Parts: sequence; C-alpha cells; structure tokens
Amino acid sequence: MTKIYVIGIGLIGGSMALDIQSHYEKATVFGIDANDNHLQEAIRLGIIQDKASIEDLVNADLVIVSVPVDIGLVLLPKVLDAIGEETLVIDVGSTKLPVCEAIENHAKRRNFMATHPIAGTEFSGPSAAIKGLFQDKTNIICEVEKTTFKLQERGMELFKKLGMRIRYMDPKSHDKHIAYVSHLSHISSFMLGKTVVEKEKDERDIFDMAGSGFESTVRLAKSSPAMWTPIFKQNKKHVVKSLEEYISNLTHFKKLLEDENYDEVFNEMQNTNRIKEILNGKK
Ligand code: NAP
Repeated sequence: MTKIYVIGIGLIGGSMALDIQSHYEKATVFGIDANDNHLQEAIRLGIIQDKASIEDLVNADLVIVSVPVDIGLVLLPKVLDAIGEETLVIDVGSTKLPVCEAIENHAKRRNFMATHPIAGTEFSGPSAAIKGLFQDKTNIICEVEKTTFKLQERGMELFKKLGMRIRYMDPKSHDKHIAYVSHLSHISSFMLGKTVVEKEKDERDIFDMAGSGFESTVRLAKSSPAMWTPIFKQNKKHVVKSLEEYISNLTHFKKLLEDENYDEVFNEMQNTNRIKEILNGKK
C-alpha cells in the first residue's frame, strides 16, 4: 500500500496514520478533515504528509473513515462513489448497524469493511493520536463476507501489523453488546461526574479529595459530547435497555442500604468481584 487517506484525523484516524507510517515504509498518508486547524496540526505532528480532498480518493489504496458516526453515515456513500475499483475503505465508527444498512446496496459495497477497533482514550483531535494504540486490542469486523476477498486480505494485513486481534460479529450483535461494555460505561461516568460536580460546587474540594478510584471511574466523562451524542442516538434502543438494567441495579442497591441489609450489600459486591477474573483473562 502506498496511497493512504484518512478522513477525520483525530484520535483514532491519527493513531492509525502514525502506525501505518511505521509499518508501510513506502506509504504516503494524506488527511481529509472538516477542521483545517486539525489538518495543519496533523502535518506539524508528522501524522500525515499532506492534506487532500474527496476527489483524490480515486487513487487510494486505502481510505480510513474516522469521523463521528452521524457524519460517517452521510460521508461513506460519497467516499464509495469517489474511490477506484481497487480501493479498500474501512470505517472505525462505534456503531455498526446504521452504517452497514446505509451502504448495503451501494455498487461498491464490496470495497467496504465495517470495523470497530476497541481502543481509545478520552481525548480527541490529532494531538490525542498515539503510536501503538491498537497493539493487543480487539478489532470487531462486521459482515466481512461482503468485502471482496482481495481487499479483506489487505485489511487483515493492516490489522495484523497494528497488533490487533480480530472478532467477527454481525452488526446487530455488535451494537447490542457494545451498548453494555462501552456506551453504558460512558453514560455511567458522565452521570457520576455530574452528580459529584453538582454536589461539590467548590471544585477545589473535589480535586483535593479525589482519590484514584474517583479519577479512574470518572475518566470517561472527559470524552467528547460531539462524538458520543450521535453514538447514543444511533444505538438508542440498546442503550436505553442497558440503562434500565443499570438503574434497576442501582435502585436495588439503594434499597438494600435503606433496609440495612448489609449481608446482601456484601453479596452484591462479592458476586461482582468476578469481574477481576474476567478482565484478567483479557490482558
Ligand atoms: P476525534 O478525535 O474527534 O476525530 C474526529 C475528526 O473528524 C475530528 O478532526 C473532526 O473535526 C473530524 N470531522 C468532523 N466532521 C467531519 C467531516 N464532515 N469531514 C471530515 N472530518 C470531520 O474522534 P475519534 O475519537 O478519533 O473518533 C472517530 C471515530 O472513531 C468515531 O466514529 C468513533 O465512534 C470511533 N471510535 C472512537 C473511539 C474512541 O475511544 N474515541 C474508539 C473506537 C472507535 P472536529 O473536531 O472539528 O469536528
């Protein structure tokens, strides 16, 4: 691969661009972004070599679409219209069913690969891009059979170089499962942050008293609302269901405390401790 275009040169797109430059010596990475300051910054940071436009995509070996998911829905058909016959287009959005449906009947559907790299931080923009972000992380690929075999191989080679494990999943299952392990975690963190900030109007006190527990639990509340609002909108059905279950657990826990049922309070936490084994197995 020599001509690589990244549309949306932020955390995910920028991190991919950095890794691609390490692994594909002959590659030139071009950036396309609605935000010209981001493009300038990405050139200055060495994330991309130059900026480009949609019309240039006809020459691309690989196009990575890494924009907020609502933008991706509108942009992807235009990207597929603009590419050449041999171009692979990868999207990395955090929801998969809407995008798979949006390009389902596009004449270049076979050039498209729907992916979700389970990697990231709470920061945005090109300055958040980091080398090695995807090492040992999982990449979920949906409807792989709809991508032409030769282009599947190109995508797989890239993910292997980035150090990723592959999981195949249908887009419906992806959106259902990701609502619990990612989308709910973000809402939980945002609302924990809100609850504490509203109570402790004197922010100095929060800062002084915040231990590593609060800091790590509230980390995701620093995430970008511009990225997360369209994710919650696109995955509303599953997110609402996961919230109902979470709220029911919170209400149950509150009731146990009100009833002074400390044996059950203990049991609730002990039963959940098995998360240690589950997550240790992942490392
Ligand atoms: P990000 O850092 O905010 O980068 C997105 C970039 O796209 C920004 O530079 C943004 O510019 C630009 N952009 C917005 N509208 C555009 C348009 N119409 N055309 C071209 N560029 C446009 O976001 P990110 O965290 O990398 O997320 C990108 C994608 O990856 C999203 O679909 C997200 O769901 C997915 N994802 C994120 C994570 C994560 O942890 N962050 C993990 C896995 C997947 P402005 O900032 O000026 O809007």
